[in-house]
Amino acid sequence: SRNDLEIGYDVPAAVGDALKSIQTPALVIDLNAFERNVERMRCHVESMNVRLRAHAKTHKSADIALFQIAKGGACGVCCQKVSEAEALVREGVLDILVSNQVTGPLKIARLARLAGRARIIVCVDDAANVAALSNAAQSAGSTIEVLVEIDCGARRCGVQPGAPAADLARSIAASPNLVFSGLQAYHGSAQHIVDPAERRTAIAAAIEMTRDTLRLLAELGLECAIVGGAGTGSFDMEGGSGVYNELQCGSYIFMDADYGRIRDDSGGVVGGFEHALFVLTSVMSKTTPTRVVCDAGLKALAVDSGLPLIFDRPGITYVAANDEHGKIDDPGNLLAIDDRLFLVPGHCDPTCNLYDWFVGVRDGKVEALWPVTARGKLY
Ligand code: PLP
Ligand code: MN
Repeated sequence: SRNDLEIGYDVPAAVGDALKSIQTPALVIDLNAFERNVERMRCHVESMNVRLRAHAKTHKSADIALFQIAKGGACGVCCQKVSEAEALVREGVLDILVSNQVTGPLKIARLARLAGRARIIVCVDDAANVAALSNAAQSAGSTIEVLVEIDCGARRCGVQPGAPAADLARSIAASPNLVFSGLQAYHGSAQHIVDPAERRTAIAAAIEMTRDTLRLLAELGLECAIVGGAGTGSFDMEGGSGVYNELQCGSYIFMDADYGRIRDDSGGVVGGFEHALFVLTSVMSKTTPTRVVCDAGLKALAVDSGLPLIFDRPGITYVAANDEHGKIDDPGNLLAIDDRLFLVPGHCDPTCNLYDWFVGVRDGKVEALWPVTARGKLY
């Protein structure tokens, strides 16, 4: 049981602890801000009359996925890997889109088995992959729902919109133990365009490609139960298009430093979301008046989208991440050894994957410890 765990070695804190008792570096959720973000998105999707299939790649947590479904208006979740889906199904998350291609006989067999225990949806962009999924589902005696992924501008996975997508949809519909469930039309690179007008232009093109493909599928008698895509950066655009019916936002619950720079039409932060995820770090060295070193470096923080911001502490700046050292400029000589700082990570998703536990805090106290259920589940 969690009561036998050794504080510091097994877990960063115990429920009821004060903030100053949390071992650092720790992955901390401000539960009030988190719950406000979940509620904001619930209201957004309700007002647009679309479904939310929250992306669990952000948190990899069964507790959070189940909360999004119970309280946050989510119909289910997305994840990226079969092992993530396995970890979540084991904890009772039973409606999952693997928003990715699953290839290789071993992984396909695992996906087909999992589809016997939960609703499983997967993306395809290849005809041979369709045949392999159908064969595996027949062997497992399960049914897999399949979305045709189209490349709607991000130039990553996905067949071309229009006829190539329709050909693939037809072959899915004709395959035993597969159900053609619709389109995956996610424009990933548009999510992080800072300027809302530029972002809208990119998403408008994606919406048109999706609309054209839907028209062609309808002519062929192929219904799309799911038209999915969108992330935190553009959810209102796909959501208001009348074309998409299922949004896949992930980062909105936490809002990393990168998303904090993405603007909405009135110059505010996109969606009105707020920072809810922090890396709590301690100052461990101060050998000059204006430089300190903290205990959170790049093993504690993903830095691919930029260095962390220091929350609510003007005048000090995180300037370099080494493996286990974070260098901080402190021109005002404000900091001392053992001071604690809340860092807003540059990129939330890969940061969460670095920790075993989320420490949920409210009103200065630890209220929850949630395992990062699918940490390291990359296969
Ligand atoms: N959908 C897919 C397919 C993704 O790959 C991602 C993230 O990269 C998302 C949705 C969620 O995006 P975000 O974290 O920007 O909300
Ligand atoms: Mn991300």
